[in-house]
Amino acid sequence: MLSQNEIVAIPTETVYGLAANALNIGAVLKIFEAKNRPHFDPLIVHIGNKADIDRYVLYVPVTAQKLMDAFWPGPLTLVLPKKEIVPDLVTSGLPEVAIRMPNHPLTLELLRLLPFPLAAPSANPFGYISPTTAKHVEEQLGDKIPYILDGGPANIGVESTIVRFEDEKVIVLRLGGIPVEEIEKIVGKVEVQVNQNINPIAPGQLSSHYAPRKPFYVGDIADLLNEFKDKKIGLINFGKALYSNTSWQWNLSPEADLHDAAKNLFRILREADTSDVDVIIAGYVPDEGLGKAINDRLKRGNYKL
Ligand code: AMP
Ligand code: MG
Repeated sequence: MLSQNEIVAIPTETVYGLAANALNIGAVLKIFEAKNRPHFDPLIVHIGNKADIDRYVLYVPVTAQKLMDAFWPGPLTLVLPKKEIVPDLVTSGLPEVAIRMPNHPLTLELLRLLPFPLAAPSANPFGYISPTTAKHVEEQLGDKIPYILDGGPANIGVESTIVRFEDEKVIVLRLGGIPVEEIEKIVGKVEVQVNQNINPIAPGQLSSHYAPRKPFYVGDIADLLNEFKDKKIGLINFGKALYSNTSWQWNLSPEADLHDAAKNLFRILREADTSDVDVIIAGYVPDEGLGKAINDRLKRGNYKL
């Protein structure tokens, strides 16, 4: 199906992707169409072997090579100067291409069978909560895509960390599955440039993204409970603390484990969004490791922005 330039939903360790032949413009156009994604939002190109990167980028800085060796296959995307073979449609006209080797056995096998790389953004309508199961994909895009490859629930649950390079300097464009602290262990101090809302380089940087449709507020839970005391409240909690004056309570991780929380985040946001509560509230999780990516997603989903 992919060889016939169709789009297919594929599992990855971050979230489900909507994949097509990255080297075929007609195939890539179908992704934008199905997602209702604006053409200024570039796609990540997925490869099945580290060495394949040389086919698509002009050069690999030493720091990029170190990061590849440390984290691939895994939730880290490298943004590097592209070769001509990568269509401008994939990069939204940017001279650089975002590239990643995902860590999912089915998808790695698929990528190694195919004679081309796969462009794949998250398999959700643009701006909505990312899918972490095949069922999420089916619910939202089932009628628009001919095939879904079910690889079980996503192991990481938040999107990849995106980095770009200025010479050897590493700049983080999107917080994600590889914590900044882990990257710094390999290449030393890095710059973090997330949250550039005007003309974003990485559209994961758009201020409103990953957003539930119901009113959603993130902040101090006690204050929010008080503010919405006349409403039916759904609380997204983390760790053990319990609150009685809510209609529904989800817990990102009762054990206060940030990996579990990342894995559960998008599923719980979806459940909350399709429940019958009037308003969803949540507190931020500890701002360390994967917690930074979780807090970033919570902030972008927040109504108040
Ligand atoms: P999604 O999988 O929907 O999060 O989309 C992939 C993300 O990769 C985009 O939203 C961008 O943030 C990022 N991206 C893709 N290509 C580039 C690029 N050339 N430069 C910077 N960021 C990119
Ligand atoms: Mg997305």
